[in-house]
Amino acid sequence: MIREIKVLPNDGLREQTEQIDEISSETLELLDDLYDTMVSGDGVGIAAPQIGENVKIALVQIDDEDELLELINPKIILATGTDIFVEGCLSIPKIYGTVRRNEKIVVNYLDREGEQCQIIAEDYLARVIQHEIDHLNGILFIDKMIEEIPETELEAYYESHN
Ligand SMILES: [Zn+2]
Repeated sequence: MIREIKVLPNDGLREQTEQIDEISSETLELLDDLYDTMVSGDGVGIAAPQIGENVKIALVQIDDEDELLELINPKIILATGTDIFVEGCLSIPKIYGTVRRNEKIVVNYLDREGEQCQIIAEDYLARVIQHEIDHLNGILFIDKMIEEIPETELEAYYESHN
């Protein structure tokens, strides 16, 4: 089910989230709702607080053909390198800007079966995962923004950074 995306100013976007102790039918429903909402918003990632759920769940899918990452209780255990690139957020419409992120990360998480999983992510995938995990700690990309890029200059930015 597509849920309402919470946008700033919304206090829920600034809260610490709770660990998932047990994957229940509500957890699975939340995963499905997050997916539907992410797709409807044309996003590459979404975190539970963005639909008003105060738990440690985030989804990431850069392209339709990519495997959907359902990250439950994600934790970055290793991060190396840095890289600056532009970001936006479903919860902060019309604002885009550059953020410094780690280039490569290793993340431990649970999948929907409750299996302990690990992903090694680089470049843009690593960036999106870091953006979503920040949401789970009440942190937004504008907190880390180096320079705002006006919407009208986004296309030129992408062209010059690819
Ligand atoms: Zn976001």
